[in-house]
Amino acid sequence: MLTIEQLEEKYNKYLIDCFDFSPPQGWLNIVDTLLYELVICEPKLSISQVKEKFGQLRVHCNAQSQIAFGLIEAAEIESNLTCQVCGEPGVNRNCGGGWYTTLCGKHFIERISKLNTKEKAKMFVEHIANCIPFSSVNEFTCSFNNFDPSGMTHECRPLYESFRNLACDNRQRIIKEVLERRPKE
Ligand SMILES: [Zn+2]
Repeated sequence: MLTIEQLEEKYNKYLIDCFDFSPPQGWLNIVDTLLYELVICEPKLSISQVKEKFGQLRVHCNAQSQIAFGLIEAAEIESNLTCQVCGEPGVNRNCGGGWYTTLCGKHFIERISKLNTKEKAKMFVEHIANCIPFSSVNEFTCSFNNFDPSGMTHECRPLYESFRNLACDNRQRIIKEVLERRPKE
């Protein structure tokens, strides 16, 4: 398995002015391919940052050519579809507290298992809010009562169960919180 140290050694010539080289493990192959191609079209390449932000790869360097910009953009898009922990196909989503992370199903479940019940229940409401618009606690409660969990993905099930197991007043409080945080139209 490729390590960050190996990448740093391989491209050290281009990383002299780099102050943040912290790509997550799952994206090291994407970074390797990108840097390999970049140095071909940008012989004077100097990289200043390679990091993760909002579950996406960010690369800052002195590249000038359209080809280089295209390569960087393609790698950033690919990272958005690749689990940042293991490199398997992933989905970019809120993994609690508004932190966007790109994870495969297995690592998503592992991540949310560390959240408490309230946080999980809130993620469930946020998830539903993204699919079905609702404007009041009653409206959400109505939709929830008619909700059919059989079509729910394996990954969302722990979120659903956390919400379902809450007492009625705790549910209402969470729905209100999510409603208040949504941007007003
Ligand atoms: Zn993974």
